[in-house]
Amino acid sequence: MRNSAGLAPRFARERLRVIAFIALAFVPLIAIELVVLQGQQQAARDGLASARLSLARAAAADTDGFIDGNVSTLRALTQTRSVRLADAQNVNAILTPIIQNDPNWLTIGLSGADGFNITSFTTPPHTVSIADRDYFQAAIAGRTGISSVIVTRGNLKTKTIVLAVPVVFDDGTRGVLSGALKLDKVDEELRSVVPAPSIELRVVDRNGQEFIGPGGEEENAPDVHARPEVVEGLAGKSSALVAKDLQGRDALVAFAPAPVAGWVVILSEPAAAAFAVPNELGRTAGVLTLVGLVIALAIGWYFSGRLARSYMDIETERFRLSDALKHAPARVGLLRGKELVYTMASPGQLEQLGMREQDVVGKPFRAVDPDPDHRAILERVYQTGEPFFAHEMPSSVRLPNGTLVEGWYNAAIVATKDIAGKIDGVIYYATDVTDLVRGRKRLEELAAAVSAERDELQQIMNELPEGVVVMRRNLTTTRNKTADDLLGRPFSGDFESARADSVPRRPDGRPYEVADFPVMRALLRGENVHGEEMEIHNVARGEDLSVLVSAAPVRRDGEIVAAVSVFQDITQLRAFERQRSEFFSMASHEIRTPVTAIQLQLDLIQRQLSKGDATQVRELVAKAKHRTKALTALINDLLDMTRIDAGRFGLELQDLDLVELAKRAASDYPTDPEHPILVVASTGELPVHADNRRVVEILENLISNAVKYSPRGGTVTVEIGRSGDHAIVRVRDEGIGIPEDERARIFDRFFRTTVAKPYGGVGLGLYISKEIAQRLGGELTLESSGPSGSVFRLSLPLVRAEVGAPAASGVNAGELGDR
Ligand code: ADP
Repeated sequence: MRNSAGLAPRFARERLRVIAFIALAFVPLIAIELVVLQGQQQAARDGLASARLSLARAAAADTDGFIDGNVSTLRALTQTRSVRLADAQNVNAILTPIIQNDPNWLTIGLSGADGFNITSFTTPPHTVSIADRDYFQAAIAGRTGISSVIVTRGNLKTKTIVLAVPVVFDDGTRGVLSGALKLDKVDEELRSVVPAPSIELRVVDRNGQEFIGPGGEEENAPDVHARPEVVEGLAGKSSALVAKDLQGRDALVAFAPAPVAGWVVILSEPAAAAFAVPNELGRTAGVLTLVGLVIALAIGWYFSGRLARSYMDIETERFRLSDALKHAPARVGLLRGKELVYTMASPGQLEQLGMREQDVVGKPFRAVDPDPDHRAILERVYQTGEPFFAHEMPSSVRLPNGTLVEGWYNAAIVATKDIAGKIDGVIYYATDVTDLVRGRKRLEELAAAVSAERDELQQIMNELPEGVVVMRRNLTTTRNKTADDLLGRPFSGDFESARADSVPRRPDGRPYEVADFPVMRALLRGENVHGEEMEIHNVARGEDLSVLVSAAPVRRDGEIVAAVSVFQDITQLRAFERQRSEFFSMASHEIRTPVTAIQLQLDLIQRQLSKGDATQVRELVAKAKHRTKALTALINDLLDMTRIDAGRFGLELQDLDLVELAKRAASDYPTDPEHPILVVASTGELPVHADNRRVVEILENLISNAVKYSPRGGTVTVEIGRSGDHAIVRVRDEGIGIPEDERARIFDRFFRTTVAKPYGGVGLGLYISKEIAQRLGGELTLESSGPSGSVFRLSLPLVRAEVGAPAASGVNAGELGDR
């Protein structure tokens, strides 16, 4: 069934099936019920029959007892003398009171062996012979004779039972004592045992005569006389049975023999009346069973409707579900059983397989998809019941036409279960995410390429000595390391917090507004800013820097999307420019002063020469020479500086003794009583391989600075010694010292300390000296400095042979250690 139109007949069919099932289920139940009912009815009938039987037996026993008692009475009489003597007179005297006292007796008589009566109450003696009667014959033969007899007198019939007992007379002859009993009492007693009026009582004697009962006149009396049961009853057997009565109706008949009386007591009643109760019970049970069946069928009808409806609901749901699955944009397959046989494959799946529905449905999975991996997954789900989920699972299937289809799938495979919860199949649902995966992979590749390119760009940017900042419209930034280093913090575009650190200023000291930042002008107004100088505070270094900033807008489709700004640190350039202008003003001063002095002295010499004063002239010439020398030294320094800059600083190396050299330099220095120079040599000789003139230049420089920056009376000490494989010369003074924060820069070219400004100088001596010392493989350092003076230290490498040699002799022998 493929749609819901066929559901109504199916519903009716399902309902009928359930009803038929219920009805069928009732058949054995009813059968059992009937058998039980019949059994119960039979038991009731049997009970009733046996009750009737015992009734009949009781009645029979009753009559027997009655007769037995009277037989005993007769037997007792046979023993009396009068009877034994056959004395008619006396016998009558005995019998009369008996008959009168017991109304049961009709008559009692004594007969002789010939059968004629000797005495009787009803007939005169010897008139009647009873010799032919069977009771007489039995008695004369010595037994008890009993016979039922109808006595006819006129048209009066009296039913009696005659009892006869043998008598042996004293004369040796035999006789019989016999008596007829009235049956009224027997009749009455027998009838009293019959409980219901419907029961008929009969007594049939051994001659087949109905002795007690309705008699032959009764139309409906059952004809039982000839029946074998009656014959058997007379033979001493009792029984109860159902027999047909004269109208042909069933009657319940019970027989019981009274052997003493020689008759059968028969109780009979219509079966319908006898079995009325069990029959009624059976009928009621039958009706109840029928009603039960009808109710069961009605309930069955109702519940079968519900059952069928819920079954149809499930079916409908199943159709809807499979319909939905069929239209799902996915590969769906329903597989049943261990062999995983297709019961459904969605069009998506069929298309992917390149097969028709009839080629797939009804076929095991392995016949449709030969991939062993796919099968293994399905079989595992079928065996373990563990669902399988796959995210972007690669899959390749070779179609029947040979093409290989590759793709990626999101898949869910779950086991299906029957009502009992046992796994009966597998359902799989797979959606094609190939385009998604391919697209993403492409995107990832692109992203990787873009990121690599960006990393490369960032690296290039970071390598740039200029700071670069790109700011977008949303004020996010990309910048290089130099930019962050220059600012002393990451350039974030958060101008407010940046301004809190310190506001950038123009060279004239005016602070910048945010909107006036070159990068903002480019971003907001599209301005091109070329080399604008800016003073900024580097937060990390705690320094003020001069920065040259350029900025330009970045346009896309004519619209400004970002601005790029380039920073250049020009702090050193500016400082150098400052130093240079200071130097020029100082140098011009340093040159003009001696030249003016020399000019003055030459004028004086000219005047003195015309006067002829030779002494004055000599003095003036000496002074001019001194000035000239200082001037020459300055010019030499300037020359040396240009040589160092040009890399043309030549050295003439030779073996020298630094002790001797230093002593000479100190003693050659023009003596000045205000600045005594003390030389302390702790070693005899310090051979070095150096340039004589340049080493002297360094020493002179140090000594002249020590003298220049010392007050009057300040001693200058030149200490000569060694430290390891180096020769050491220390120049110690008691001068103005060097401020701590300026010590690092005193070897910079043109640098002069603030406290040295009042003294003449251009700040080149130490710079050149340090350059020379380094070129000689040594070092020039400021060892210590303070308000009480400074110590400069020159170290030069000792010549190899001297290295490690024992110290030279002398009072102060020993190394001049570092202090
Ligand atoms: P200048 O010609 O100025 O002396 P130098 O290069 O010789 O140039 O010295 C540089 C600066 O170092 C000096 O200007 C001075 O400030 C400082 N200086 C050098 N030597 C001493 C010293 N012995 N005592 C104090 N300051 C010194």
